[in-house]
Amino acid sequence: MTLSITAVSVGRAFGLPKPSLTYLRGWGETLDIPLIMFVIQGGGAPVVVDTGADLDRAAEHHGIRMEQTPEERPEAALRALGVDPAEVGVVVNTHLHWDHSSNNHLFPNARIVVQQREIDYASNPVPWHHRQFEHLPELTAAWRRAEDRIDAIDGDAEVAPGVSVITLPGHTPGSQGVVVAAGTTRYLLAGDCIDLYENWPGDAEEEPIPSGIFTDIVAYEDSLKRIKKLGCEVIPSHDPLVVERREFR
Ligand SMILES: [Zn+2]
Repeated sequence: MTLSITAVSVGRAFGLPKPSLTYLRGWGETLDIPLIMFVIQGGGAPVVVDTGADLDRAAEHHGIRMEQTPEERPEAALRALGVDPAEVGVVVNTHLHWDHSSNNHLFPNARIVVQQREIDYASNPVPWHHRQFEHLPELTAAWRRAEDRIDAIDGDAEVAPGVSVITLPGHTPGSQGVVVAAGTTRYLLAGDCIDLYENWPGDAEEEPIPSGIFTDIVAYEDSLKRIKKLGCEVIPSHDPLVVERREFR
């Protein structure tokens, strides 16, 4: 069994203030970033990590300009890889921010793996985080469309052969990463714990830079230390270079 990871673009968000991705750095700069769905193949049923945004909600409810080509619709992107959405056995949400969890309902037979702490927080966030979790009176959060299939877990767990989730709190309380043993390399899909390669120099000399969005920066530091100890090749959640490379094996 040799696992492979494919990083699929499922849309782009335009004009994000840079300090929202690199804590207190890049004032006055903006970035255009991809939304990425990861597809892990080569084991049993395919595993999907993060399911992107609902574009219909982006401008109206999130004030973000986004774009998605027909090929970037999650179903179409999967079919292009030869995967029927109904075949997907496991969906992992690294966290429940709307841009990572809005298309869980497209996978009718998948077990959806989320940390219980994340569900608890998404159900009762502080007011400044209401929009990120779509905890809004006028809107039901998109992730709740498949709520009945969520397998809420507490801690680290193997979710498929060679695929494990590990807790990385900080960006959100129940953030989790996904460790994938693909060939001779162990990769970490870091979620928004690491947004860009720039956040993770991977060099002992340089300190990592947290995301500008977090619920607990002290826990966040522990998560970054945990990542360092893992010794995995880190794959960030929103770096255009990840989409460009596309294949991790
Ligand atoms: Zn996030």
